[in-house]
Amino acid sequence: MQIVTPVAAMQRLAGKWRRAGARIGLVPTMGYLHAGHLSLVQRARQAVGARGKVVVSIYVNPTQFAPTEDLARYPRDLKRDLKLCRAAGVDVVFTPGDAGMYPGRVTGGYSTYVVEEKLGRMMEGAARPAHFRGVTTVVAKLFNLVLPDVAVFGQKDFQQAAVVRRMVADLNFPVKIIVAPTLRQPDGLALSSRNKYLNPGQRGQAVILFCALQAAKKTVAKKSVSAARLKQQLQKMITAAPLARLDYLEFFDPQTLEPVSKVTPGVHMALAVYVGKTRLIDNAEL
Ligand code: AMP
Repeated sequence: MQIVTPVAAMQRLAGKWRRAGARIGLVPTMGYLHAGHLSLVQRARQAVGARGKVVVSIYVNPTQFAPTEDLARYPRDLKRDLKLCRAAGVDVVFTPGDAGMYPGRVTGGYSTYVVEEKLGRMMEGAARPAHFRGVTTVVAKLFNLVLPDVAVFGQKDFQQAAVVRRMVADLNFPVKIIVAPTLRQPDGLALSSRNKYLNPGQRGQAVILFCALQAAKKTVAKKSVSAARLKQQLQKMITAAPLARLDYLEFFDPQTLEPVSKVTPGVHMALAVYVGKTRLIDNAEL
């Protein structure tokens, strides 16, 4: 397994692979890897085959964090990540730094961003205004550096995957986007690097996101219901967990991400909940 930090070296290596006819699969991450990330690595390997190249990028992208968010304290453990990647059969771990990715950003020498203007407006985009601009920018840059045939994203970040898909279609990136299912703890909590922030009491109550999704599924399986009514019910359920505070909860069409007024099977639900100071997100098709 190779570890590549300079962006020019990554681009050169990817070009060499391409000319030799190897397929390239990319798994973009912010590191502090868990089994969810590793399931994306397996999916990438499956897509490119034994002779293809799987690249995991590990980069805590500053442009997708607001100044008030957890950029500085985002969990990092590169040594452990490298061990996990080696064991998972990754070919290259790409670990660019800010100087390589955004040279001169702080001093005004970097000024190009990629913005998707529709699917990224609501939910995460409303709660975190500059977030998706940072995501689309870094993903576009990673695509230009790693030259992947396929890139694998998690359904855990459903809206992110939708925004990236739209960017790929709109800007003609020759990259196939694969979205892989969410891996969960036995009690249903979605695996996330941010789960590390939770103390034992908070960890216990963090399952409320999954419980809300399950409750919604159960209700909708019996009969279609008004989104406002169901939202009220679930709000009440979440409020009953004293360490949890709802940020948003939406029912929406999985293609357009537009909110629906009637919740029927096939509608998608997403929510963001603060558990203590930690903001967790989850989603599911109902
Ligand atoms: P992150 O490191 O949090 O930016 O996530 C990197 C990729 O892993 C994204 O495409 C996420 O959607 C995906 N991911 C995060 N958590 C999970 C999970 N529990 N199961 C599957 N994929 C995940």
